[in-house]
Amino acid sequence: MNDGETIPQMGFGLWQVPGDQTARVVGEGLAEGYRLVDGAAIYGNEEGLGAGMRQPGVARDAVFVTTKVWNDDQGYDATLRAFDASARRTGLDRFDLYLIHWPCAANGLFVDSWRAMIRLREEGRVTSIGVSNFGADHLARLVAETAVTPALNQIELHPFLQQAALRKTHADMGIITQSWTPLGQGLAFDAAPVRSIAARLGASPAQVILAWHLALGCSVIPRSTRRAGLAENLQAGSLALTAEDLTALATLDRGQRLGPDPAVFS
Ligand code: NDP
Repeated sequence: MNDGETIPQMGFGLWQVPGDQTARVVGEGLAEGYRLVDGAAIYGNEEGLGAGMRQPGVARDAVFVTTKVWNDDQGYDATLRAFDASARRTGLDRFDLYLIHWPCAANGLFVDSWRAMIRLREEGRVTSIGVSNFGADHLARLVAETAVTPALNQIELHPFLQQAALRKTHADMGIITQSWTPLGQGLAFDAAPVRSIAARLGASPAQVILAWHLALGCSVIPRSTRRAGLAENLQAGSLALTAEDLTALATLDRGQRLGPDPAVFS
C-alpha cells in the first residue's frame, strides 16, 4: 500500500454474518488459509470477530483485521470514540486497517473523521487508514485538506459494475481498490462468458468472478457463512484467466449498483 504496509489480496467479509455465527466463520476462514478479515461497527458482530481471533492457533499478527467507522460516528471526537468502542467490542488493541464507511458528504464531517484516523495511525492504534464508498471528488478533498492519501478505497465492484474510471483514479493516486459485494449477489453467475470460462477451467462461476477481481489488481473480500464456500472462494487465487477471458468479462459491465449510490447516501 502507499504507506509501505502490505495487505493480503483476498480476504472474507462479515456483513450479514449473524453475531452468534461470526466466531465460527472467522475461525473457519482462518483455518482455510485466509489472512484478511473485513468487519465494520455497523455489522453488529465485532464481538464475534474478536472471539474468532482469540481461538487457539490464531496468531494476532498473522491476520490483517479491518473495521470501519459508521456514519453516525463521523466527526473528530466521535470517530475517536467509535474506534475505542470497536476496540472494546473486539478486544483488539490495534486494527490493521480502519476505514470511513461512507463519505456522507452532505453531513460535512468526513474530513474531520479523516483527521481523527490520522491521529489513530500516529498513535499506532491502527496501522493503515483508508475509506470506503468514496468518489474521486471525496478523495481529492481529503488530500487537499490533509495531505494524507488513503491507503485503500473499498467500493462496490462486480461484473455488472466494473468501476473502470474510479479504478483509474485509484491507480493514479496510489490507492488500493478493494471490491465489496464482489460476487454481485450471484447475478452474473449465469452470464455466458462466466459460464464458458468456468466450464473450460473446471471452476465455479464464483471462482471465475473472484479470479477476475484478482486479475484487475483489486483486493477482494467475498462472504460465505459456509466453510465449503469460504474454501471455494479462496481457491480462486489459483485460477489463471487469459487476456481473452478478461475481454469477454469486460463486456458484462452495465453500471448496475446493488447498494446505495455514495454520491447521495447519508
Ligand atoms: P458477496 O458478493 O461476497 O456475496 C455473498 C453471497 O454470496 C452470500 O449470499 C453467500 O452465501 C454467497 N456465496 C458466497 N460464496 C459463494 C460461492 N462460492 N458460490 C455461491 N454463492 C456464494 O457479498 P457481500 O455483500 O457480503 O460483500 C462481501 C463483503 O464486502 C461483505 O461481507 C462486507 O465485508 C463487504 N461490504 C462492504 C460494504 C461497504 O459499504 N464498505 C457494503 C457491502 C459489503 P453463503 O453464505 O450461503 O455462501
